[in-house]
Amino acid sequence: MAEPLHKSHDLSVLSVAAEAFPLIKTGGLADVVGALPGALAVEGIAVRTLLPGYPAVMAAMEDSATVHSFPQLHGGPAHVLAGRAAGLELFVLDAPHLYARPGNPYGGPGGEWPDNGVRFAALAQVAAAVGQGAVSGYVPDVIQAHDWHAGLVPAYLHYAAPPRPGTVMTIHNLAYQGQFPRDMLASLGLPPHAFTYDGVESYGGIGFLKAGIALADRVTTVSPSYAAEILTDEGSMGLGDVLNRRASVLTGILNGIDDALWNPATDTHLASRFAAADLAARAPNKAVLQARFGLDREPNALLVGVVSRLTWQKGMDLLLAALPLLLRGGAQLVMLGSGDQELERGFAEAARRHPGRVGAQIGYDEALAHLVQGGADAILVPSRFEPCGLTQLAALRYGAIPVVARVGGLADSVVDASAANLASGVATGVQFAPVTQQQLEAALERTLALWRDPRQWQHLQVRAMATDVGWAQSAKHYAKLFRELVVAR
Ligand code: ADP
Repeated sequence: MAEPLHKSHDLSVLSVAAEAFPLIKTGGLADVVGALPGALAVEGIAVRTLLPGYPAVMAAMEDSATVHSFPQLHGGPAHVLAGRAAGLELFVLDAPHLYARPGNPYGGPGGEWPDNGVRFAALAQVAAAVGQGAVSGYVPDVIQAHDWHAGLVPAYLHYAAPPRPGTVMTIHNLAYQGQFPRDMLASLGLPPHAFTYDGVESYGGIGFLKAGIALADRVTTVSPSYAAEILTDEGSMGLGDVLNRRASVLTGILNGIDDALWNPATDTHLASRFAAADLAARAPNKAVLQARFGLDREPNALLVGVVSRLTWQKGMDLLLAALPLLLRGGAQLVMLGSGDQELERGFAEAARRHPGRVGAQIGYDEALAHLVQGGADAILVPSRFEPCGLTQLAALRYGAIPVVARVGGLADSVVDASAANLASGVATGVQFAPVTQQQLEAALERTLALWRDPRQWQHLQVRAMATDVGWAQSAKHYAKLFRELVVAR
């Protein structure tokens, strides 16, 4: 007999994060936190997500009820609300003095909030309290802490009196560690003996992510290759020692994307919906994309797309340097992104200098990101490091050939169009290493050569679109890990 789609839930997980799509998002973290609960439900795991009560989250809450109150939480009263929003079962930490602010989760017009240490310690403290039964009728078996914002959850639970749920620290990006001064220790409600090398101490201060890595029962990150890279001197970003000490409980599980949200056959952001069996229907999207970015309407020019934060990590400076080669090859570029001002200026300037060939939109635009995926011929991701990367997963699904650096999750999700892989029909994209301008240029030249052979390009597209980029397999890995943790405790 076939397995039922939704097994009844037998395990309960509290997921703690600073972002969740579609409620609040600055990057891939939100996509993962938003999509994993649905995939885990299929595995019989009930996930509740604890989020800070930012204005956007508060406004989206349906049927919320106060399930716990703190008369004082770091300078003001706070309430835990239970409710639903955007299909997610939520706990929301309603603490206006910490979260009722404009801007993104981490800062406003004037930059990062100076009290981010307290804001996210409060989130972790409340998560730990919920883990220990603060909400009547709810006790999770496992708490999954996402990134540094939730890094203190395993610490609060480690130093609290038992019993406690199992803890999993999930690293989405080791570059953001949440490092704060030592003198915050007492105000965060952590005991003095927590300030040790085995505890929350990190380089003389308090390291939120470091604490989570050191004290969680299990540590996960978002691709097998990144799990290996962060154990090396080059990739460990100063946390190599603690990571190597925890290597026996460290696992890499590749992210997926929400394949209902990212489905070229049903995507309402596209001008024309398409499938692998009907690639001709993809062409109108390219034309619309070219028009949208003011590019020459050339169906035969290779249209390269970028959807990215503009930071050093993403290798966007290398793309600017390699642009002359791309343009000499007759290609066009559309870039949707925002971030470092110098890079923003660089792309805006490139668009001015090469009208009709280069288009740049500085900003964040979810709908346009879908059109880029559905209209560009190739998607470029030249990251210097990439824990998983989601844009190349969407690219595979949309038949936009990913051209990626061979690092982290990019290495794990794209099959390079080497002669052997082309011959055996398994290639889905182009990879390059090391991440230098020279190797990026070589990869772009290979991409242009593949483009000049339409039959081969179409084979690549069909193969790319057949790649399984959804959450189902990864959710099975998480479910197994959660279950083993519960048994082990
Ligand atoms: P990171 O989390 O490091 O920024 P990921 O590739 O893991 O990188 O996730 C980025 C997510 O954010 C993807 O869903 C991508 O489509 C989206 N994204 C990034 N920049 C933009 C933008 N300017 N407009 C719309 N979506 C964007």
